Amino acid sequence: MGAAALKRSAALAGVLVLLALPFLANSLRRTADPHCALDGGALVPSYRVRVDDAAGKTHEFCCLRCAEIWLDRQARPVRAIRVTDEASGKEIDASEAYYIRSLVVTTPTTGNRIHVFLDRTDAEHHARTCRGTVLVDEERPFGRVPYLLPSDQ
Ligand SMILES: [Zn+2]
Repeated sequence: MGAAALKRSAALAGVLVLLALPFLANSLRRTADPHCALDGGALVPSYRVRVDDAAGKTHEFCCLRCAEIWLDRQARPVRAIRVTDEASGKEIDASEAYYIRSLVVTTPTTGNRIHVFLDRTDAEHHARTCRGTVLVDEERPFGRVPYLLPSDQ
């Protein structure tokens, strides 16, 4: 490849990046709503909870506690509750998670001390190092109330 061709392809790559930027910025804005739907607190990605209501609208919360308070106020069950695995930052279904209550506060504004893990090893490690206990049955967040619509709907 000659110098001229190289320059041309570099320029082309630059143009493509410029063209892509507005779309990238848009998609970031859409996925990163910075405020909790309950208390308006800042959303920290590793503790975020997302709830899809019966109408399909997504509500984001800064922590488990805010999501639970909000769910308690809803007249209708919701479609999905998704929590964030603290170890990987990955969003998972609330029913898949291990929940640990420990001494570590996730969100100073709410005082939430319940932590979310997908992996059992990560959960047990947190419990061991931060004096936590694994929550079972109705201690689990979202475990008490039938918040979810039956899955056939
Ligand atoms: Zn909140």
